[in-house]
Amino acid sequence: MISHEGLSLDPVAAFIEPRHREFRERVRAFCREEIGVGRHEGDGEAADGSDSRGRRDPDDDAEARVRARELVRLMGAAGLFAPIAEGDVRGCLVAREVLAWWSPLADAVFALQGLSATPALVVGRDPGGWAARAVAGDAMGAFAMTEREAGSDVASMTTRAVRDGDGYVIDGAKSFISNAGVADFHVVFAATDPEAGTRGISCFVVPADTDGFAFAGAQVMSAPHPLGELRFEGCRVGADAMLGDEGAGFKTGMATLDRLRPTVAAGACG
Ligand SMILES: Cc1cc2nc3c(=O)[nH]c(=O)nc-3n(C[C@H](O)[C@H](O)[C@H](O)COP(=O)(O)OP(=O)(O)OC[C@H]3O[C@@H](n4cnc5c(N)ncnc54)[C@H](O)[C@@H]3O)c2cc1C
Repeated sequence: MISHEGLSLDPVAAFIEPRHREFRERVRAFCREEIGVGRHEGDGEAADGSDSRGRRDPDDDAEARVRARELVRLMGAAGLFAPIAEGDVRGCLVAREVLAWWSPLADAVFALQGLSATPALVVGRDPGGWAARAVAGDAMGAFAMTEREAGSDVASMTTRAVRDGDGYVIDGAKSFISNAGVADFHVVFAATDPEAGTRGISCFVVPADTDGFAFAGAQVMSAPHPLGELRFEGCRVGADAMLGDEGAGFKTGMATLDRLRPTVAAGACG
């Protein structure tokens, strides 16, 4: 059976600890057991659809969505999301390099659990316990920042959150959101003070069953990756759904992306 040999850790030996090497072996063992379904050696695809590495990711969007949720559960049960909870970037690097080698979908699953759990870790409060559940593999998360007309220029977002009594009402739409349609909870960025630019954006946790929240449709990529659009119409959340202070959402979002950015490179090496 083919197994992941991966990059040599020797050049970075000074920067990692024995626990990272041990963790890498655990991730490898997980991949061999749960992802390496193919037993094919050589070039091209085997009869079971696995490629020359013995990997087989779903090639259909509907199947990828089911598999992504299954991977959340399996990876959580195997403790693979632990470095996310510990803020251990080196552990996340090790995980993504191995996961991406075996399965781009599993790598994306890891990245999104990281993106959706980290904002709560950044602000030190976990409304509804969703981040803890994400790390345990009991809930799938999404990170909803981008809009059709607001990508790199986050401050131009038009999704609004208006204070109303003891909560906020969110209206707007998000686009290109990984795990849209399959996530159990969403970390949503919305403008609470549109005139204040990046200082007027706040961050909320919105569970999938919240009234006024809807999955607006899939955006299908060439690679297996659950992606899609979200709609908010009079979507009411309590004030305690806010992650961090009002107006501090952009800072929280950027701190989250900063923490996980190096892991994108690790995934690319896998
Ligand atoms: C597979 C996939 C998954 C994604 N998942 C998520 C997700 O889970 N959550 C989420 O919120 N978003 C997600 N996104 C969206 C992603 O974050 C955006 O695509 C990204 O922010 C860029 O926005 P844009 O696509 O609108 O490009 P634009 O912002 O329109 O940029 C287009 C090009 O212009 C360049 N550019 C932009 N501004 C400037 C400038 N001022 N000066 C010079 N060049 C500039 C950019 O570098 C880029 O090359 C995902 C996207 C993809 C493709």
